[in-house]
Amino acid sequence: MTDYAASLRRLIRATGPVPVARYMAESNAHYYATRDPLGRNPSGHGGDFTTAPEISQMFGEMLGLWLADRWKKAGAPTDAVYVELGPGRGTLAADALRAMSAAGLEPEVHFVEGSPVLRKAQGSAVPDATFHEDLTGLPEDRPLIVVANEYFDALPVRQLVATDDGWRERMVGLEGERLVPVAGSQPMDSALPQERRDAPVGTVIETAPAQVAQMRELATRLARQGGAALVVDYGYARPHTGSTLQAVRVHEKVDPFAHPGEADLTAHVDFLALADTAIEARAQVLGIATQGDLLRAIGIERRAEALAQAAPDRADEIAAGLERLVAEDQMGRLFKALLIAGKGWGD
Ligand code: SAH
Repeated sequence: MTDYAASLRRLIRATGPVPVARYMAESNAHYYATRDPLGRNPSGHGGDFTTAPEISQMFGEMLGLWLADRWKKAGAPTDAVYVELGPGRGTLAADALRAMSAAGLEPEVHFVEGSPVLRKAQGSAVPDATFHEDLTGLPEDRPLIVVANEYFDALPVRQLVATDDGWRERMVGLEGERLVPVAGSQPMDSALPQERRDAPVGTVIETAPAQVAQMRELATRLARQGGAALVVDYGYARPHTGSTLQAVRVHEKVDPFAHPGEADLTAHVDFLALADTAIEARAQVLGIATQGDLLRAIGIERRAEALAQAAPDRADEIAAGLERLVAEDQMGRLFKALLIAGKGWGD
């Protein structure tokens, strides 16, 4: 058992179950701080999961081109800065910045990243980046060109569960040595809108206060400073019930409570809630698109042809990358993009 897993069990034994939100926040903080989940990790295996920018350079290029186009339409302000939330290995940023540069945009780079291990990888991919722990330290006086891919899904969700005695917070408790979800002891009915309270026992409702808070900060800045943001994640664009908490380890789905701090915990992103938050903060929501539709609209198929022509020996790999990014039964439909514009950047 890792030190983190042992101390979590001690804490629960001494003080009782912890909320799912706290479990997710602390487990992910430990997880990301101690490895590069996209590459080889301490146990020597080939990573836990892969992401769109690691599949193909075309992903970052297309996002970069969309943002460069917005920037041109906004009058090409020379002081705009590139911001990426949770840049992983820095691959997306390097690809996006290369595409932006071809369009005449060469912004200063700011990364919001908590993990020291990943900061190192990002620093090699993009040497002049400035690092931030969270969004609050980002420049306040310039337009922001923002990318977040699979960032919001890693932020902690809060869960409520319907019991015979009413709604309770969903917590993580211990059954012997095993971590298991349990219902908290405090009544939580007042945390739910009236129309959602009548659900069968066992129903789980998820909210994402951390996602909403970070979106509010981002959209407030865009509305005030100008700029545009592309938030890409897997999630849903209509209301839903049920837990979407999941854990991935060595490319396999595992029980989210079985490997605290040793598996990647994510939850589906509620795109409508993020869009509503952006609008409330006075930013402009340009739309929600599936990843497949967005990449095709920007021109990924033409880019794939050009790449394959330039490197015929890699044509199969390029075609396979395109397929994985845009096909409906791959990442094309489950992954969605929220397109946001700030002051003077929308139309
Ligand atoms: N965008 C990258 C990596 C996705 S993994 C890609 O597409 O490949 C999630 C990223 O978000 C990692 O870089 C992780 O360290 C970062 N992250 C997760 N939670 C965070 C938090 N609370 N604060 C800052 N960074 C966080």
